[in-house]
Amino acid sequence: MARSHWFALLVAFSCLVRALNASDGDADPVYRACLEHCKKTGCAGEKCFQHCKFSSDGKPVDGPWEEERTQAGHKPLKYHGKWPFQRVYGIQEPVSVALSALNLAIQFHGWVSFFILIYYKLPLRPNKKTYYEYTGLWHIYGLLSMNAMFWSAVFHCRDVELTGKLDYSSAVALIGFSLILAILRAFHVRDEAARVMIAAPLIAFVTTHILYLNFYQLDYGLNMKVCMAMSIAQLLIWAFLAGLSYHPSRWKLLATVVGGSLAMLLEICDFPPYWGYVDAHALWHATTIPLTYLWWSFVKDDAELGTTTLLKKVN
Ligand SMILES: [Zn+2]
Repeated sequence: MARSHWFALLVAFSCLVRALNASDGDADPVYRACLEHCKKTGCAGEKCFQHCKFSSDGKPVDGPWEEERTQAGHKPLKYHGKWPFQRVYGIQEPVSVALSALNLAIQFHGWVSFFILIYYKLPLRPNKKTYYEYTGLWHIYGLLSMNAMFWSAVFHCRDVELTGKLDYSSAVALIGFSLILAILRAFHVRDEAARVMIAAPLIAFVTTHILYLNFYQLDYGLNMKVCMAMSIAQLLIWAFLAGLSYHPSRWKLLATVVGGSLAMLLEICDFPPYWGYVDAHALWHATTIPLTYLWWSFVKDDAELGTTTLLKKVN
């Protein structure tokens, strides 16, 4: 008898936890009715689904329940943490996909032009290494950025557990590494041992967080907090460098920091998609495109400045 009580309590508790994690739309009566029907028959309305969370193909809106809600004059709601989007050829969030792909191209352009500048236009040391001391770090940054944009495009095409994990892990790795880079560059950390001392705890933290997301729980709320904290920290560090140093390109730095902070507000507001296409997150992707261009432009100026300063010291 006591055993069955415990079992009932456990079931009730797990339902409560699930309810706390749910989006507003998940509790909507029209959606619930459709979901129940879908679970029994595999179909809702005229369409049938692979699984009853999202529609699987050409249906223009994410589900018939959303059409019913719109016709009844209700505002859009989130389902399983996502807004309902208009699909294009089965792509779930076409605008975010296009903007991620464009950002990938801009990142590639920025990285290649940095590469050409540093190895072909600026003088090299006798051992063929660059005078600029942050070259290797910017190469890693470029690769992590392109990796993150690639998985972002894949994730917005189709949101399944695997693409979600790859997208979140890549983004966390990029944000974590950018923080390390911000600290090393802003505080002129050139000594190898000091660099390791700063990077090691941050790499350990980021790795643990990625392992937690992938193998324990894909906790969107926690991930958002971790990413926000690391992003705000690096924005403050770059703002500090822009405000206190006499860097000739500090306006580019300042513009990126201000632009990046404003863009972050879009991630926080999180409004539903206009015309079924452009939500807050898609607009955030749009803002990252000019910011990325400006950012690589700053990096190239910084490489030039670093090289000329060191050459002056040498001569
Ligand atoms: Zn995205």
